[in-house]
Amino acid sequence: MKSLSHITESFTESVIREMTRSCDAAGGYNLSQGFPDFECPDELKEAAIRAIRDGRNQYPVTFGEPELRAAVCAKAARYNGLVADPGTDVTVTCGATEAMIATMKALINPGDEIVVFEPFYENYGPDAILSGATPRFVPLRGPDWSFDGDQLAAAFGPRTKAIVVNTPNNPTGKVFTRQELDQIAQLCLKWDAVAVTDEIYEHILYDGARHVSMATLPGMADRTVTINSISKSYSVTGWRVGWAIAARRLTERIRKVHDFLTVGAPTPFQHAAVVALGFPDAYYEALCRRYAEARTFLIDVLERAGFRCAAPRGAYYVMADYGALAERLGASDDTSFSRRLIETTRVATVPGSSFYSRAGNRTGQVRFCFCKRWETLRAVRDSFRERLLPGGE
Ligand code: GLN
Repeated sequence: MKSLSHITESFTESVIREMTRSCDAAGGYNLSQGFPDFECPDELKEAAIRAIRDGRNQYPVTFGEPELRAAVCAKAARYNGLVADPGTDVTVTCGATEAMIATMKALINPGDEIVVFEPFYENYGPDAILSGATPRFVPLRGPDWSFDGDQLAAAFGPRTKAIVVNTPNNPTGKVFTRQELDQIAQLCLKWDAVAVTDEIYEHILYDGARHVSMATLPGMADRTVTINSISKSYSVTGWRVGWAIAARRLTERIRKVHDFLTVGAPTPFQHAAVVALGFPDAYYEALCRRYAEARTFLIDVLERAGFRCAAPRGAYYVMADYGALAERLGASDDTSFSRRLIETTRVATVPGSSFYSRAGNRTGQVRFCFCKRWETLRAVRDSFRERLLPGGE
C-alpha cells in the first residue's frame, strides 16, 4: 500500500482527549480535559430545544446565522470594546478549534512562520503542521509565565505571518497584560504580521485580572483575528459553536476555508448561542466566583498532597510540579506520572509535555483542571488523602 499522508504522520493524537478516554475506562475523576462536568444553564437548554422545535434544523447560513453574528458583534462591542460588522467581519465556526485551523489555512503560504508561546494549547502544534506553517516558539517562564522581550523580538522576522496569543492562557493561567500585548502589537506592525488571538477564557479571571483584546490596540483592528466560542463561558463544550472576528479582507478568506471544511456550525445551537450572549453581567460574576473557589480548593488539595503550584490568574487550569511524588509513584517522566496517578488515585491529568514542542516528557509538571462539580473535587481530595499521602491524613 502507498504510504499515507506525511503530514498526519508527524503529530500524535491529542493527549488531552486520550486522557479522557483512559479516565472514562477507569471510572476516574477527569481533571484532564477542560470541560465542566456540571450542567449548563437551563435557559440555554430550553433555547436549544426551542430552536429545534421551531424548525431550525437545516444548514445555517454557512458563515453564521445573522442573529448570531449580530449578537457576537454586540457582545464584542460591549465587553471587549471591539468594533466589528456582522455582515463582513464574522465567521461562525464549529468551536474555536475550527476557527483556529480555518484562520491558519486562510493565512499561510509555504515557508511562512508563526510565533507561538510555549507551553501552548495542544492543538496549535498540529494546526501549524496542517496549515504548513513553521512554528517559532517563545518560552513563557513560570511561576509568573512572563516572556523575555528580546526573545520575542528575535522570533519575528520577514517570514513571520502571524503570532498566536491565547489569553487568558491554557495551560498556564497567565493573563497577558496590556503592556505585554503592546509589545506584541509593535512587532506585528513592524513585521506586517497578523495576531491570532484565542480568547475563549476571557470571562474566567481572578484577583482583579483584566482581559484586554488585542484587536483594540492602536493599529491592530485590521490585523487581528479574534477567536472565541460559547464552550467555556456557558459550559456547553459539546455544542461546537465558535467564531472568528476579523477585518473583511481576512474574513473573506476564513469564510472560504470554513465553507469547504464544515459548511456550518449546528443551526439550533447557533440560535441558543444568541440567548447565551445576552446574559447579564451577573452571570459572568457568578461564573468567576465559582471558579475562584474551585481554584482555591484544588490548589490546597494539591499542595497538601505534595504538589507545588502557582495560582493561575485566569482560565481553569493549574500546572503543578509533582517533584517528590514521582519517586513515590515510581514514575520516570510526566507521561508515566500521569499514568501512575490515574492507576493509583483514579485522578486524570495531562502530562506537561503535551504543551511543549520538544520537552521529551521531562517537564516535571502535570496540568489539572478545576471546572468540575464540588463532588468531583472532593472525591479527588479524598482519593489523594487515602492513596497519595503515606498513612492518610
Ligand atoms: N481546551 C480543553 C483543554 O485544554 C480541551 C478542548 C478540546 O479537547 N477540544 O483541556
